[in-house]
Amino acid sequence: MSYPNIVAIDGPAASGKTTIANQLAKKWGHFFFDTGVMYRAVTWLALHNHISTKDEEAVSRLAHEVKIDVLPPSQEDGREYDVLANGIDVTWLIREQRVDKKVSRVSAYPEVRKALTVQQRRIGLRGNVIMVGRDIGTVVLPEADLKIYLDASVEERARRRYKQRIDRGEEANFEKIHKILKKRDRIDSTREVAPLCAADDAVIINTDNLEVSEVLSEIERIARANPED
Ligand code: C5P
Repeated sequence: MSYPNIVAIDGPAASGKTTIANQLAKKWGHFFFDTGVMYRAVTWLALHNHISTKDEEAVSRLAHEVKIDVLPPSQEDGREYDVLANGIDVTWLIREQRVDKKVSRVSAYPEVRKALTVQQRRIGLRGNVIMVGRDIGTVVLPEADLKIYLDASVEERARRRYKQRIDRGEEANFEKIHKILKKRDRIDSTREVAPLCAADDAVIINTDNLEVSEVLSEIERIARANPED
């Protein structure tokens, strides 16, 4: 079968977007691009440079100046790709809880979104891509051939994030994770620019009671039902 050329997968934090998109991209031979790493890289860089994430002007300047690269993995430590911010390997640093706590504030700044959206759109329009985020189907690539919105309850998402951290050998506190996720959901879905929401033409899948393999089959079924012209 011929696969959709440009695929947008949106949804709240820990709804399974990355896992699903990554596996689908391998199967379909598409390039997987997780736009969340860009917002995380800007947030990490601000914290690293002792810039307050409340300083919208300074953070926006950083977003316009930073060079973010997403490259094939250079190490076998469980990573799917390398993320470089101004040449620094931040692949794991951007997953720290201090970044989780501040990233939604940073990504609500209009100038930050403007700077990163331009780069994401340029990459997406090359095609043969599965792009993951919050606003891909609505703002970044409204012309996507297939739009999926993955959802799950906040409890299930907190459980998944907790397990991810434990599996990586990190310390994790379920209540804390649950609280941060809820706060991020609120900020991401109520911000003025490009809020988290499903595009009108997106297919919504609730992954609460689904295995990864079941979500993959469902997306393949939808792709088959909507073949490209
Ligand atoms: O997907 P991930 O959880 O890594 O994204 C981190 C944060 O980046 C989100 O909570 C959201 O605030 C922001 N983000 C965004 N738009 C995107 C991707 C991520 O606002 N397209």
